[in-house]
Amino acid sequence: MSAIRKVIIIGSGPAGYTAAVYAARAKLEPLMFAGEKSGGQLMLTTEVENFPGFVKGINGPELMTNMQQQAERFGTEVVYRNVNRVDFSDPEVKKVYVSTRAGEEEYQAKSIIISTGAQSITLGLPGEEKLYGRGVSTCAVCDAAFFKDKTTFVVGGGDSAMEDAMALTKFAQSVTIIHRRDAFRASKIMQERVLQHPKISVLWNSSVVEVIGDQKLTHVKIVTDGKEQTLPADGVFLAIGHRPMTSLFEGIITLDPHGYVVTRQSASEKGVELAQQSLQNGLVQFPSMTSVDGVFAAGDVVDVRYKQAITAAGQGCAAALDVERWLERHE
Ligand code: NAP
Repeated sequence: MSAIRKVIIIGSGPAGYTAAVYAARAKLEPLMFAGEKSGGQLMLTTEVENFPGFVKGINGPELMTNMQQQAERFGTEVVYRNVNRVDFSDPEVKKVYVSTRAGEEEYQAKSIIISTGAQSITLGLPGEEKLYGRGVSTCAVCDAAFFKDKTTFVVGGGDSAMEDAMALTKFAQSVTIIHRRDAFRASKIMQERVLQHPKISVLWNSSVVEVIGDQKLTHVKIVTDGKEQTLPADGVFLAIGHRPMTSLFEGIITLDPHGYVVTRQSASEKGVELAQQSLQNGLVQFPSMTSVDGVFAAGDVVDVRYKQAITAAGQGCAAALDVERWLERHE
């Protein structure tokens, strides 16, 4: 067991690294468990063109390496191990456990920032892994501009699929939504926008069964009511939801019905409840705090809606500032 740290950060995407930069510059000497696969979703991306400050865009893994080096420059200790379990039952000392060859190691901190992210749910189709980033994508908001005058498909029937389809219409020649049922679950207003758009068509009761291509995607194989067809395709966008990485925290902090961490600024029923309980002089105290005092969260693990690198980074900054102020009150 090591000394009690001021803050441990769990997770190493844009939220975690931004929290680390701010916490380190505030002399909180953060310890980050970056995970064995560090860097989060941007490690799976090629060109990132919407992160401010990079006029010509930047490669996703390069952006994450920059963030990591920036965090380390100010004194963040980055450990590339997965956290196995946590114990937040002691209000004074939070415990984090990682496994080593010798067994389990315990780390202690006064505060925690959770930034474990969310994973896009994929279909596991033949060809999908090979063509990821080569025509298969899980983020139209990020990648739509690469599909100018192209033939694109969006899989899903929720708000994300509607939003992805609309984002693609600005660039693509055509957008076909492939949905497994005969009705969307998306909000009515978004459905209407999509169904009225001249560039968008819908294949109802349909599933993608294969994505085809060598160096890049060329075709998509679809089954509609048992009938198979192979269509030319430049882009297939999977918009079938996200899975927040929160299994470590089940039963320990409040999660919403989709498994996202609830903080006092979560735009959900439970978030509003937490916010109301923490009002002082009309202001919500420590907005990034979870249901456990001293445990904060930031990034896609909290964010049902936006899931952008820049929104995650902003939340990481906010969490580190909240931690700094919370520690000042508790020291
Ligand atoms: P979602 O609401 O869970 O929708 C997922 C869609 O993917 C559903 O239509 C589902 O089909 C389909 N799907 C799931 N698994 C599939 C599979 N294996 N094969 C084929 N299709 C599959 O997810 P989401 O659209 O990402 O939205 C998540 C939450 O974020 C929602 O609460 C949503 O309202 C919110 N959101 C809001 C906005 C906004 O307000 N601007 C934008 C995006 C998301 P079924 O319908 O048949 O189940």
